[in-house]
Amino acid sequence: MREILANGTLVTPDGLRRGDVALEGDKIAGLAARIEPAPGDEVVDVSGCWVFPGFIDAHTHLQCWTGMDWTADSFETGTRAAACGGTTTIVDYATADRGVTMDEALAEWHRRAESGAGCTANYGFHMAIAEWGEDSPAQMRRMRDAGVSSFKTYLAYDHLRLTDAETLRCLEVARDLDAVLCVHCENGDVVNELQRRVLAEGVTGPEGHPLSRPAEAEADAVSRLLYLARIAGARVNVVHLSTALGLEAVRAARSRGQRGVYVETCPQYLTLDDTRYLESGDDGFAGAKYVMSPPLRKPSDVRALRGAVLAGEVDSIATDHCSFNLRGQKDRGRGDFTKIPNGGPGIEHRPAVMATSFEGQLGPTELCRLLAEGPARTFGLWPERGRLAVGAAADVCVWDPSARWTIGAATQHQAVDYTPWEGFEAHGRARLVYVGGVLVARDGEPCGATPGRFVAR
Ligand SMILES: [Zn+2]
Repeated sequence: MREILANGTLVTPDGLRRGDVALEGDKIAGLAARIEPAPGDEVVDVSGCWVFPGFIDAHTHLQCWTGMDWTADSFETGTRAAACGGTTTIVDYATADRGVTMDEALAEWHRRAESGAGCTANYGFHMAIAEWGEDSPAQMRRMRDAGVSSFKTYLAYDHLRLTDAETLRCLEVARDLDAVLCVHCENGDVVNELQRRVLAEGVTGPEGHPLSRPAEAEADAVSRLLYLARIAGARVNVVHLSTALGLEAVRAARSRGQRGVYVETCPQYLTLDDTRYLESGDDGFAGAKYVMSPPLRKPSDVRALRGAVLAGEVDSIATDHCSFNLRGQKDRGRGDFTKIPNGGPGIEHRPAVMATSFEGQLGPTELCRLLAEGPARTFGLWPERGRLAVGAAADVCVWDPSARWTIGAATQHQAVDYTPWEGFEAHGRARLVYVGGVLVARDGEPCGATPGRFVAR
C-alpha cells in the first residue's frame, strides 16, 4: 500500500514541478505528474501546498547538561516539537566532556535518545571534543565508523575549549577522515576579560551579556579558525554566524580560494536584534530569554546576514536549539548575567520564521536549499535525505503557504516556558509531516507516532 500525495507543487533538486509523490514503506517510491492509484493506495490531496523533503536541523542540544543546567527539552519533546514544525531529522551535539571518551559520550547520547517514549524525528550526532589527547585521533576514527562524521570544538568556554595547537591537530585528523569540523567561534579570553569588566562596572542584568561578547570576538575567532583550516586543508562549518564582521572574515577566506568553508546561521540572528536585552517585564529580567551565545546583534548585523542569505553565501539555517525555562532555570542568573544558562528554543519554529520573514524574497527552492539540502550535503545525509526524489527516505513535509497562525508559548510543543518569537504572525505551516513514511504531525500538532531513529552518516 502506498500513500500518494496528489496535486502538489513538488520541490525537487531540479526545480519546482506540479505532480504527485508516492510513499511506500520508508522510501519515496514514485514522483510524477500523475500517479495512478492502485487498489489499497491512500490518496491525499495536497493541492495548494509545497511538498518539501523533510527539513533538517543540524544544530541542536537536547537533553544536555551545559555546565550550568540541564536543557528543558529532552529527545522526546524536542524531536516531537521539531516534527510539528516540519523538521524530520536533527543532528544533535553529543559532547565528550573532559575525562570522558568519545565512545562513552556517544553511548550516553544513544541512551538518552532511547530513554523517553520515543523520538518523533530522526536524529544523528556530531561529536563535540572538550579536551585533546594522544588517543583523540583513534577515537575520532571510531566515531566516523559509528556514523558520526562531523565534530565540534570550541574557541570559547573554559570547560570546553581547545588551544589553537589542539584545534589544528583536530583539523588535521578531520581532514584525514574527510569529516567536517564545526567550530564555536568566539575569542574565549576576550569574553572572560570583558565579563569581569562589565560586572565590575555594575552591569549585572541581561543587558551585560552582549556587552561582554562583542562582534570583534566572533570575527577574530572566525578568521583564526579559517586560517587554521587553511593550514590543515580541512573542511569547517562556522556555526551560528552572527555578525557582519564575522561574515567579512568568511568572505575573505573564500575570496582567497579556500575550499570547504561552510556557513551556518540561525533564525534568531536574522530576525531579532540586541534591543531585546532591554525588554521590560519580569523586573527587568525579560532580556534573559535572549541570553545565548553568540548574543543577538545590532540591526546592521541582521541586515548583513540577511543579505548573505539572499546572496547564497549561507549553506544552512539551523537553530542552536538549547532551551531553558525563564522561571526556574534562567532566573538563577538574576544579579549576575554570566550565570544565566546560555541558549534559547527554536527547533519547532525555524521553517515558519524563515518562510515568513523572507516572504517574497526566498521561494520554495531557496528555502529547501537552506533548510534541507544544504545541511544534508554538508553533513553527509545527502542523497538519502534532503532531496525529494525516488529512492530517497520518505521524510516529507507538506507545507501550506496560505496558513496563518501565531507563534506562542501557550500553544508550542517545545517543553519550555517561552519563545523568542511570541506573537509572531506566521505565514505558512507544515500541514502534513512524514518521517520514514509515517505521518507524525498534522497542522502543527503531533499524531503520536514515534518512528524517529538514529541516522548514521
Ligand atoms: Zn550550539
